[in-house]
Amino acid sequence: MLDNLSDKLDILFKKLRGQGVMTEENIKEALREVRLVLLEADVNFKVVKDFVERIRERSVGGQVLQSLAPGQQVIKIVQEELVALMGGGEDNSLDLAAKPPVAIMMVGLQGAGKTTTCGKLARLLRSQRRRPLLVPADVYRPAAIEQLKTLGRQLSIETFDSQATQDPVDICRDAIRFASLNGFDTVILDTAGRHQIDEYLMGELVRIRDAVEPREILFVADAMTGQEAVNVASGFNEQLDLSGVILTKLDGDAKGGAALSIRAVTGKPVKFVGLGEKLDALEVFHPDRLVSRILG
Ligand code: GDP
Repeated sequence: MLDNLSDKLDILFKKLRGQGVMTEENIKEALREVRLVLLEADVNFKVVKDFVERIRERSVGGQVLQSLAPGQQVIKIVQEELVALMGGGEDNSLDLAAKPPVAIMMVGLQGAGKTTTCGKLARLLRSQRRRPLLVPADVYRPAAIEQLKTLGRQLSIETFDSQATQDPVDICRDAIRFASLNGFDTVILDTAGRHQIDEYLMGELVRIRDAVEPREILFVADAMTGQEAVNVASGFNEQLDLSGVILTKLDGDAKGGAALSIRAVTGKPVKFVGLGEKLDALEVFHPDRLVSRILG
């Protein structure tokens, strides 16, 4: 089976070359393949439409049509544009330079991997010589607080002693005070998720944000949920003005098109990717790697 875009385009252009001079029509056919690959990788159709139009504009220039390897030329343009769309070359690092303690607020739907990612991020930050405090602020899911405390114990990272009977806004505010008094420079807030966006949850998240003014509000998205992740990300971004995205479960079958779409639709950078259940499976996001994955 041919599922590699580069191979597909090579074969297509060879076939076309047999028919004589390359034309704009040929490019169109190649772009149809590009479009399909992106849709198969779960990129949002509106994003694909705009993207293919940009590729078309760059491809119909004389150079591509007359080159000896038009397929490779188109691929190169596609790669460059995809990396640009993913924010290639931009600074994706966390903004933690403010006076400590700085707060990182993690948000997202239930099951996306938020709690696990809090642990992973705390571990990563500790390796960068920061002193993180984990804060369980999900008082609705019965096991959530205990789950984060367990992760904290595994990592030997302190977890704030929240109780499910407390108001989440109070928990977060108290945790910042606790961090300040006890020398923690980074506070990671694990907020509640739901199966879908609801007003009550959003109201609570906005109140937490206003109370603690986090430097980072990171949306944790499950790469396996594809298109849905894009709509959810937009909803969270509208309410909270996210600072970035963490895409989890990229160790699975997902092609990762969701990352591209979330970035294109919200304009917010993907900062990290989750690559497994283990606590060391978090990496800084590299646009070029994701692009290779999408193109197959
Ligand atoms: P939350 O409800 O958003 O807090 O989600 P959890 O942190 O409880 O994670 C839900 C499930 O996803 C758990 O079984 C995690 O082990 C799993 N998980 C989280 N991140 C990843 C990842 O990057 N890869 C894989 N394969 N599983 C993950």
